[in-house]
Amino acid sequence: MLWFRRDLRLADHPALLAAIHAAGEDGAVLPLFVFDDRLWEPSGDPRRRFLLDALADLREQTDGALVFRHGHPAAVLPKLAAEVEAVSVHVSADAGPYGRQRDAAVERALGGIPLVRTGSPYAVTPGRVTKRDGSPFQVFSPFARAWREHGWRAPAPRPADPRWHGGVHSDDPPRAATDAVLPPAGEAAAVAAWHRFRDVRLTGYAEGRNLPGTDGTSRMSAYLKYGCIHPRTLLADVAGVEGESARRFTDELAWRDFYADVLWHRPESAREYLKPELQDLGYDTGPQAEELVRAWQEGRTGFPIVDAGMRQLLGEAYVHNRVRMIVASFLVKDLHQEWTLGARHFLHHLVDGDLASNNHGWQWVAGTGTDAAPFYRVFNPITQGKKFDPDGSYVRRWVPELRGLDAAHVHEPWTAPGGIPQGYPAPIVDHAHERQVALDRYQRLRDR
Ligand SMILES: Cc1cc2nc3c(=O)[nH]c(=O)nc-3n(C[C@H](O)[C@H](O)[C@H](O)COP(=O)(O)OP(=O)(O)OC[C@H]3O[C@@H](n4cnc5c(N)ncnc54)[C@H](O)[C@@H]3O)c2cc1C
Repeated sequence: MLWFRRDLRLADHPALLAAIHAAGEDGAVLPLFVFDDRLWEPSGDPRRRFLLDALADLREQTDGALVFRHGHPAAVLPKLAAEVEAVSVHVSADAGPYGRQRDAAVERALGGIPLVRTGSPYAVTPGRVTKRDGSPFQVFSPFARAWREHGWRAPAPRPADPRWHGGVHSDDPPRAATDAVLPPAGEAAAVAAWHRFRDVRLTGYAEGRNLPGTDGTSRMSAYLKYGCIHPRTLLADVAGVEGESARRFTDELAWRDFYADVLWHRPESAREYLKPELQDLGYDTGPQAEELVRAWQEGRTGFPIVDAGMRQLLGEAYVHNRVRMIVASFLVKDLHQEWTLGARHFLHHLVDGDLASNNHGWQWVAGTGTDAAPFYRVFNPITQGKKFDPDGSYVRRWVPELRGLDAAHVHEPWTAPGGIPQGYPAPIVDHAHERQVALDRYQRLRDR
């Protein structure tokens, strides 16, 4: 039996190969997905929709054999394993805090039937890359060096003709609908998206990756999140490519592994400050603060690059990485809100929402994480906009009220000859002032 989780593909799937091997020549593999409320409920509709589409694709790939069940896996798995007389249950290891607890509970509940973990959603399984003394890395660069030295396996072959165990009752999947425009889900879509990037855009990645108005990044994050493709497949393709772009791209996959590694060693870091003293910085509360947060969520802050990013989040369930940093900095340092509030909002709306990458990305911007940006580095939304969206194409795409403004005014609409275009708000805060407020609070904390 193969219990799919974040590995919704058939190629480069070591746990699938292990399940086929365990089933033997005459046996068949029962493919299963469990809808677990603990994971389904906190997901927003974009992630639910993407997951359902990826599962529909997987069901087709398994000739309709993929079985859906609802409930807690510790109750579902033993029942189904008994029903089909499974000799073993195969999974790709889960490195997240809930996944680890859940799998331990399933293992206990399965009694004599082994839960076999083979591979993980990462190039290097979290916990494997350590300093010489065995302790975890706190800082990205030495982690990335050790990660490259450790290396990873070549992609596993796709099984030629897997035999699936059919005829088992399947529950209906739940429903989900979203207005966000999502990428097509599933393994074939992931491979096609990867090939388009690898063959055309990878060479320009080093320059293009910071420009949200261009199609400069891979857009692989949702596929990686659900394992429609494995990072090893990407790394194998990139290994033969010379130059800065391939190196930068490999580094980004190292960040993904790094954050999973941090979460593995410090499971509490998903919710708690890695620098706990910053929890006492002093955050804004009350009706006025709540109204400012609503303006941020809805893309009505009056700062064009921030509004474009927050509207991209609602429109595509995705935000460009540079803009994720800008909008996160704005929430924490201009609106004086805790990073946890922003992280929850992102996780609810992002199609690639991932506990490790998201919550550590937020801690990085907020200056509260391991290897975080220093607190005093505050993103200026105007200069960031001008630098990384120089022609204003990103802002114009997402903020129609500003489409009539040229590049010289689109990031500062209040300087336009006709003033701020109708329908677009004036800035809700004075950035220079709020930056100083944040730095003063930080200084007070340090002087205590
Ligand atoms: C506040 C904040 C929240 C974020 N939340 C998430 C999230 O929920 N899920 C998520 O996958 N990424 C998250 N990121 C990281 C990054 O923004 C996205 O992975 C990236 O924008 C996805 O677009 P892409 O696939 O085109 O990236 P590319 O630039 O093409 O990168 C390739 C892959 O590398 C990985 N990657 C790239 N940058 C990072 C990074 N900084 N940290 C970890 N992995 C990275 C991703 O898997 C990505 O798909 C967050 C970053 C910040 C600053």
